Amino acid sequence: PADLLDADFYAFQQQLTAEEQAAVARIRAFLEAEVGPHADDLWEQAKSPRHLIPRMAELGLFSAGFPGYRQFENSCVYRGWIALEIARVDPSTATFIGVHSGLAMNAIHVGGSDEQQAEWLPRMARGELIGAFGLTEPGHGSDTARGLETTATRRTAADGTDEWVLNGSKRWIGNATFADVVVIWARDTADDQVKGFLVRTPAVGFTATKIERKQSLRGVENADIVLEDVIVPERDRLQRIGGFRDVAVVLRLTRAEVAWQGIGVAVGAYEAALAYAKERVQFGKPIASYQLVQEKLSNSLSNITASIALCMRVSAMQDEGEQRDHHSAMAKAFVTARMREVVAWCREILGGNGIQLDHGVARYFADAEAVYTFEGTFDMNTLIVGRAITGIAAFH
Ligand code: FAD
Repeated sequence: PADLLDADFYAFQQQLTAEEQAAVARIRAFLEAEVGPHADDLWEQAKSPRHLIPRMAELGLFSAGFPGYRQFENSCVYRGWIALEIARVDPSTATFIGVHSGLAMNAIHVGGSDEQQAEWLPRMARGELIGAFGLTEPGHGSDTARGLETTATRRTAADGTDEWVLNGSKRWIGNATFADVVVIWARDTADDQVKGFLVRTPAVGFTATKIERKQSLRGVENADIVLEDVIVPERDRLQRIGGFRDVAVVLRLTRAEVAWQGIGVAVGAYEAALAYAKERVQFGKPIASYQLVQEKLSNSLSNITASIALCMRVSAMQDEGEQRDHHSAMAKAFVTARMREVVAWCREILGGNGIQLDHGVARYFADAEAVYTFEGTFDMNTLIVGRAITGIAAFH
């Protein structure tokens, strides 16, 4: 089994099986040896760690969510835990994996026919093919369910088979600059329902332009996508997607993992701040000896501990088939709000060095902003909980 993280104050990790803990140990060793040392440089250069894809696949980082493709029987709690471990070392890498495995593979797993799953999932699990997930548009982020403008029009191809013509634009789509398959969500012009399409890239009429000058999660490549009469055969339409409610199923699964990712961001910042506080001497004593610094560390660890408890339960509910949209939404909103407090306190502990990449906190501080916003902003997830409490949707 892996050693307990110091930030795992209540020893939650011990609730994983011995096999899961052994896998956590392997994954943590890989992250600390091969991802951590390059994370700041890749962040600065705004590049994804693509060279590590084969190693990530070998460690089962893409396949853990998929019975039939994973390396051993594992719980949803384990999947959450590895999202924490990855984000603890590099939130950008966690997001790259979250998009490929969480969003794209889950879209195919939830929405694909048996044939589509068999075609894509094994190769995506092995990292031979990389996926992206195109939902957000320039004009629609929080309101994609009602506002999505990208269109899909069905027609008969020259050979007599059915095909779809996609038109529209997407924004912020992670991995889309190099992905082999981009799941595009578009509105059927005939029945107005949102449907999912597997766009194999490169495709005529499909362009993905990297978004430059990002100041958060710089190690994830996000793209603006334009779709101009992109043709997708009917066999590449996700056959089990009936409308936006099926997209919500995918988001329910991935939001819980983003909550775990938020804990990892907080842990990464906390560990760096604690180490710094013990070393840094002011007024003749380590700053860790001052009450105000200890309060920040104590509050950070309390936020982390409460967040792990919440996520352990929300993932256990997933294992039990009891997880609902509002359960994931509460975890995502609560944990990322606590994470945002933690990275701010930890940044503060480092004083001026807290804003510079070399001292271990600045990257988490900046990355927290995107984690707080994507997969449903704090506000939207709060309103999903509000709807569950009151029975009244306050957002449409
Ligand atoms: P908006 O929806 O315009 O929201 C702006 C503000 O208004 C927010 O504070 C929001 O909470 C608030 N607001 C909106 N409506 C209401 C309301 N009714 N009541 C109260 N407040 C409201 N998308 C993808 O499809 N695929 C990806 O791979 C992907 N990766 C991403 C990676 C990064 C780094 C980022 C930053 C984003 C990514 N996204 C992706 C998009 C992300 O999901 C959206 O940014 C997010 O859903 C918010 O949408 P928006 O940015 O358009 O903000």
